[in-house]
Amino acid sequence: MNLSRNDAIIMQETLDSAISFLSRFRDTFTSTLRWHPLDPLWTNLHSNAPARPSRRWRLAKGLLILASLGAGSSAAASACEAPVAVQVLGSGGPEAQQERASAGYLMWLEGKARVLVDLGGGSFARYGASGARFADLELIALTHLHADHATDLPPLLKSGYFSPRNRALPIAGPTGGGDYPDLEGYLQGLFAAKTGAFGYLAGYLDGSDGLVRLKRHTLEADSQEPIPVLETDDYQVSAIGVSHGPVPALAYRIDVGEQRIVFSGDLNGDDPWFVDFARDADLMIMDHAVPEQAGAVAAGLHALPSEIAEIAKTAEVKHLVLSHLMRRSERALDDSLARIRAVYPGALSVASDLDCFGLEPRGR
Ligand SMILES: [Zn+2]
Repeated sequence: MNLSRNDAIIMQETLDSAISFLSRFRDTFTSTLRWHPLDPLWTNLHSNAPARPSRRWRLAKGLLILASLGAGSSAAASACEAPVAVQVLGSGGPEAQQERASAGYLMWLEGKARVLVDLGGGSFARYGASGARFADLELIALTHLHADHATDLPPLLKSGYFSPRNRALPIAGPTGGGDYPDLEGYLQGLFAAKTGAFGYLAGYLDGSDGLVRLKRHTLEADSQEPIPVLETDDYQVSAIGVSHGPVPALAYRIDVGEQRIVFSGDLNGDDPWFVDFARDADLMIMDHAVPEQAGAVAAGLHALPSEIAEIAKTAEVKHLVLSHLMRRSERALDDSLARIRAVYPGALSVASDLDCFGLEPRGR
């Protein structure tokens, strides 16, 4: 039997879905055992009950075996369930941390991962754990080209080879400056035929070799006005320039119906125009990389807790999520949270990897 690449991929995805379903059933089933010890099924397992198992147990055992067979080949998908949600892929910064990958976020819409914001080291593995599908992505939005925000792009794209996707994939990123290339320079450095680090993936630049063409949007990192990035029937994405020391950097905003999500990326809090950009956000993810006592270099790159609080308060953000935590900001977290709570009256969360933040519908 001759299968095309797409046929084979679709068959594999169908199998993966079935395995994922059974894995979820198994997880539910085992947690039932754990939390309801008086359940008759539990009693069957842990008493001197008749040797012949009940029909219910035989059925459940059969399903458990099936689920176990599949468990090694597919992580259980756990899509964010709210109609609109943001999932944290990486809540850390550039340090190697035990429980935090470097920066990365997904915007889920009706159970599909649509927008990926940043993909630093380790976020690709979290992306796999999230159950997101490459075929569903409608935009990759890079805030800036620091390693902890952009290095897992090549593995993500390589994974796309095994996806049934054919349509081009939009990708947005900043203009260059100083030591930093612009988005195009970054992509050429990675994928240009012969000269790129991964020149064998040059098809991502031009759509050759059956690879998905990247549709590039290089955005002016000095812009103090919102830049339209993507408009679909369901949501609009825009960007604005932000100050991150010498690094050309962007913040992104996604408006979904009446709901607004803002990703600050890395910024030092010196941009009054960012407050307008973030105004009235239902959810804002901000980098919290430094404590209040940060030295001049660190404070030139990242907003202090007092600055984060002032921005979130002035912009009337409903829910602020602190992410991009580093060891220095974790050590001072209690102090930083107290400073922020003293000023900012909205909901406040500290991100962990794979956290999901669903948005409540509201009128605007
Ligand atoms: Zn950075």
